[in-house]
Amino acid sequence: MIEQANATSRPRVLVIAAHADDEALGCGGSLARHSALGHDTAVLLMTDGVGSREDAGSAEAIRRGTAMNLAMQAMGVQTCERFDFPDNAMDSVPLLEITRAIEKFVDGWGIPDRIYTHHPGDLNVDHQLTHRATMTCFRPQPGRHTVREILCFEVPSSTGWMGSGVGSAFVPNWSNNISDTLEQKKLALRAYDLEMRPWPHARSHEAVEALARHRGATVGVEAAEAFVVERIIVA
Ligand SMILES: [Zn+2]
Repeated sequence: MIEQANATSRPRVLVIAAHADDEALGCGGSLARHSALGHDTAVLLMTDGVGSREDAGSAEAIRRGTAMNLAMQAMGVQTCERFDFPDNAMDSVPLLEITRAIEKFVDGWGIPDRIYTHHPGDLNVDHQLTHRATMTCFRPQPGRHTVREILCFEVPSSTGWMGSGVGSAFVPNWSNNISDTLEQKKLALRAYDLEMRPWPHARSHEAVEALARHRGATVGVEAAEAFVVERIIVA
C-alpha cells in the first residue's frame, strides 16, 4: 500500500473529478493527508464550471478560479489541471476524447500509484462519465503500466441520489482516517462556499461534517472518508 512507501519513491496520488468541489467533498481530507505524508498530489478536473452563457474571463469565472486555488492550497495539492468539457453535458462529448485528455495529462505527470475518482452509481452524468473514462484510461494492459489502486469516493448530493435499483449502490469497503485533516477539508469547502447549500441539504457544511463523523464512527475513529475499491493490487 502506498502509505508504506519509503522516501526513495514519492508515491503519486491523482484525483480525477468532474467539477471543482467534488475533490474536496469526496476526498479532501485524504488529499490533505497524502500531502502531509509528502506524496505527490494532483487533481484533474473535467469541466471548467463556466456555464455556456458565461465568458471565460467573466467575474464569475475568475471567482470560481480563485475558489479552486484556495481549496487546493488548503489541501496542500501541488498540481491542478482543469479541462473544459461542458458542465453537466459531458455526455455530449465522445468518451474517447475524455479518455485521451486524461492520458495526455498522465503522459506528462507520470503514472499514479493511487487514483481517487467518482463512483459509477452517482446521479450526475458528468460523475458517471468521469468514472468511465478513468476506468477506460487505466484499464489493465499487461506489459505496460498498471495502476495498482483505484478508489471511488462519495459526493453528497449525487452519490445516493440515484433511484433505487438503478446503477450500483455505494457500499464502502475502504476507509481513510481523516481525524487530523478534517479541518483542512472543511477549510477547502469554505473556499467553495457558493457551491454549498444551507442545512439540511446534503451539500451543506453541517451534512458534510456529519458524514465524515459517521464514516469515522463506523470504523472507530474521529473522522473518516469512505470509498469503494475498484482495484487494489498488492505487490
Ligand atoms: Zn460534481
